[in-house]
Amino acid sequence: PYDVLVVGGGPAGASAAIYAARKGIRTGIVAERFGGQVMDTLGIENFISVQETEGPKLVAAFEEHVKSYDVDIMNLQRAVSLSEPGKDGNKNIDLIELKLESGGTLKSKVVILATGACWRELGVPGEKEYRGKGVAYCPHCDGPLFKGKPVAVVGGGNSGVEAAIDLAGFVAHVTLLQFDTVLKADAVLQKKLHSLPNVTIITSAQTTEVTGDGTKMNGLTYTDRITGESKHLALDAVFVQIGLLPNSDWLKGTVNLSKFGEVEVNHHNATSLPGVFAAGDVTTTPYKQIIIAMGEGAKAALGAFDYLIRQ
Ligand code: FAD
Repeated sequence: PYDVLVVGGGPAGASAAIYAARKGIRTGIVAERFGGQVMDTLGIENFISVQETEGPKLVAAFEEHVKSYDVDIMNLQRAVSLSEPGKDGNKNIDLIELKLESGGTLKSKVVILATGACWRELGVPGEKEYRGKGVAYCPHCDGPLFKGKPVAVVGGGNSGVEAAIDLAGFVAHVTLLQFDTVLKADAVLQKKLHSLPNVTIITSAQTTEVTGDGTKMNGLTYTDRITGESKHLALDAVFVQIGLLPNSDWLKGTVNLSKFGEVEVNHHNATSLPGVFAAGDVTTTPYKQIIIAMGEGAKAALGAFDYLIRQ
């Protein structure tokens, strides 16, 4: 059995595995796809000490760093369930069991959940084609690339309105499109948004297509849900802010999840289940970023080590 078994091979999981292995304890990492969301990222300009890099390049560096320690890497393996000692068919009294889709079972004293999240997509033509070529999901990451340009934000909840306020500070113009008849963000955010001179708010708008010239996006088509009219906006970018989905479905009924499905963690990254820690985008920790996921992964591994030495 492992002392520490990390589930997830994104920045949070890679960092947790390195911190655990450096304590000289038996460490394994299981990942459906090593690298996680970073594999899908083109330009990264906010990973401190590296001015500019690309996702796959950064992932190769994570992998090289993890491999320099004695860590078992089990890539292309999806975890399907977790069972605490003595429960759900787990006959061990002190080991947590992790079942894999491939049929295998792994055992460990401590498990660190780092299965990340994925952005909810619009699901319209052009979205996939122009992803990273104008279609963006993270204003903190890609916002500065569109300084002085016209952009749109889709989504009228807190994240959409926050993104529009943030972007309005440096882009030429922001159009905020909301599907519903009203915005859903907190009143204080809506008030701020309404006070900005370079923001237009369109409610009852259903985005139907992202348009482009074959190399990058150039606009967006939406239907006015009241009149049924189809309209086109010329844009350099669209930020899709309709929700972040934590990869936690497989954990339902084991650890406590928030109403958004995020794994609840305390300051030491412990979950509600003894011996189970969590880090990164799958957790309740705010601001989903690479550097934050890495810091949280380190904290979870140190929390796990503290737990182990007390057993
Ligand atoms: P993830 O990166 O999501 O990794 C999750 C890991 O868990 C993966 O290995 C996945 O395969 C695995 N996994 C999931 N479910 C299971 C399962 N059941 N069993 C086994 N393994 C599983 N952040 C920045 O700081 N700067 C940027 O420029 C930036 N740009 C971005 C651009 C895009 C297009 C996207 C999508 C995100 C961007 N982000 C950026 C956000 C950043 O990528 C995330 O905050 C970060 O990757 C979160 O790390 P994580 O380790 O928590 O999760």
